[in-house]
Amino acid sequence: MPALRLVCFDLDNTLWHVEPVLVRAERETWDWLVAREPRLSIPFDAAWVRDKRALLLRGRPDYVHDLTALRRDAMYRTLLDAGVDDPTARRIAADAMDVFLHLRNQVELFPGVLEALELAHRRYRLAALSNGNADLKRIGAGRLFDVVLSAESVGRAKPHPAMFERALTEAGVAADEAVHVGDHPEHDVLAARGAGLHAVWANPLALPRPDALPTDVPALDRFDDLDAILERIAAAGQPSRA
Ligand SMILES: [Mg+2]
Repeated sequence: MPALRLVCFDLDNTLWHVEPVLVRAERETWDWLVAREPRLSIPFDAAWVRDKRALLLRGRPDYVHDLTALRRDAMYRTLLDAGVDDPTARRIAADAMDVFLHLRNQVELFPGVLEALELAHRRYRLAALSNGNADLKRIGAGRLFDVVLSAESVGRAKPHPAMFERALTEAGVAADEAVHVGDHPEHDVLAARGAGLHAVWANPLALPRPDALPTDVPALDRFDDLDAILERIAAAGQPSRA
C-alpha cells in the first residue's frame, strides 16, 4: 500500500476567502491610480479596468495562465484610453501592480488553517498549487511549503495536469502517494484525480456539495479535521481515478 507523502493545497478559497480581498485590493489600487494620474477621471473607474480585463481575456485566452500580466495590461490600456503616453502608462501600470499585489496578499486565513498546516508540515511534504497570484512568503506561510507552484510559474493553469505533475516531480513522490486539497470541483478535485492523486474537497465557505463531485471524495469543512482525513486517505490506499 502506498504511503501518503505529499499534501498539495489550492490557496484562494481553500486557505482564505479571496473575494473580499480582491474587492478591497481593486478598490484601493484604483484610488492609488487616480491619485497618481489625475487624467483617470470620469468615465474611467475600477469597473472600466474590469471590463478591460474581460476584453483582453476574450482576445487572448492564454492570459488565464498569467493573471498578473492580465491585471497589469488592463491598467496599462486604461491609462492609454485616458490619454497617458505609452512609456508613462507602462511605468504607472507596473507600479500599480505592485500596490495591488501588496493588498492582494493581505489575507485572513480560515480558522485552524495555520495549526493544521503546521501539523501536516511535520508529517508530510507540502505543496501549494494556485491558479492565482497569491504570495505565500508575503502571507507568512512560505516556510511550511516545500513546493510552491502557480499557473504563472508553470505556464499552465489547473485543471491542466502540468501543475500536479510538476509538484510530484519536485517532491519526488508518485501520484498515488499524494493528495490535493482544493475548493474547486473541476480545477482541484476532478483535475487532481485525473492526474492520479487522491483529492479532498475543501469547503470552508460551507457551500452545498456540487453534483459534479464523486460521492467518495471527502469534504473538509473545518481545518481541524484535516489530519484525520489525511490519515483515512493514507489507510485506504490507492486513489480513485473516477
Ligand atoms: Mg480555489
